[in-house]
Amino acid sequence: MKIETRCVRAGYEPEEATGAVNVPIYATSTYAYRRFGEHRGWEYSRTANPTRSALERAVAELEGGADAVAFASGLAAIDAVTNLLQPGDRIVASDNLYGGTYRLLETITARHGIATTFVDASTSDLLSAAVTGTTRLILLETPTNPLMQLADIAAAARIAHERGILLVVDNTFLTPVFQRPLELGADLVVHSTTKYLNGHSDSVGGIVVAGTHELGERLHTIQNNVGAIMGPFDAYLVLRGLRTLAVRMAAHEANGRALASMLAHRRDVARVLYPGLPGHPQHDLASRQQGGFGAMISFDLGTLARARAFCDATGIFLLAESLGGVESLVCHPATMTHAAVPPAERERLGIGDGLLRLSVGIEALEDLEADLVQALDAAGKA
Ligand SMILES: *Cc1c(COP(=O)(O)O)cnc(C)c1O
Repeated sequence: MKIETRCVRAGYEPEEATGAVNVPIYATSTYAYRRFGEHRGWEYSRTANPTRSALERAVAELEGGADAVAFASGLAAIDAVTNLLQPGDRIVASDNLYGGTYRLLETITARHGIATTFVDASTSDLLSAAVTGTTRLILLETPTNPLMQLADIAAAARIAHERGILLVVDNTFLTPVFQRPLELGADLVVHSTTKYLNGHSDSVGGIVVAGTHELGERLHTIQNNVGAIMGPFDAYLVLRGLRTLAVRMAAHEANGRALASMLAHRRDVARVLYPGLPGHPQHDLASRQQGGFGAMISFDLGTLARARAFCDATGIFLLAESLGGVESLVCHPATMTHAAVPPAERERLGIGDGLLRLSVGIEALEDLEADLVQALDAAGKA
């Protein structure tokens, strides 16, 4: 079945009692035993809850995984993945990760004796060279945030598997509609469901999809022992979001492509970072590895003053962190999502004071375009 069909039906069949076509919100913390020593398959909602389990089945199915575990946030999901490791193990990660992931690895994970080497993962040779004898896990985001650099997932999987270590891909930006890392050899996929999977900016959550039952089991155990579960109300919202994921992604992408090309034609925009542009250095890899280019676009206005004037002038594009909702957002990474990255490191990466990132929503293209044009004109006067 095609992904559009699977989005609508994944993870749930009408239940016996009523035939309800949607999974109920099982607002329950605990479950009555049938009799002494005999439960009905459900014991306590930290361990499992039917609404959450339906979401886990759905996302596992869409990503082509064996199992999935839904968490209270994307960062809780990534933290659980790091809990597969032991003190002394090392992680190799992309060097322009989501700011919160960088902060998690540099603070909490490092304090637990698990150090991370950050590397430009857009070059497979650099990635390979960064892996040492104690590396146990490679963590990639592709495309990266906010610089839109790609990593070759199949090449990274070969590097990981030659050395018997895990490859984890954060697939938040593209979703299984446009990219399925497990099919390319990854062992685990993580998502901030806060973004496209839920898609309506009304819930925070995360999920890890495991390629094997064994890894899924280990993650369920970690979650049960730590407790950062997704609640049933949020699981319901994300399930509802999934039903329209394919049509939303198509609408996001159509707007994203058109706006990236409009920005690329403007003289007052220094550079536009979008893998769908033929001028993107990894456009070929993007066309090969991805089923679509997504709707995240970064571009540079050169100075803080212009970036500020642009953000002050937009009307439809709301100035906010986060991404992947139906509404269009603009974000200034240096002062917002990437404020935790030290200025020198930001400079080295190319996350300058003039860089802006758009999460293009599903509004009418002409309205979005008009909003950007008038904000660019306003920025030009700053
Ligand atoms: C938002 C985000 C996260 C973190 O997810 P939360 O739900 O905010 O904890 C991780 N990775 C990427 C790519 C993200 O965009």
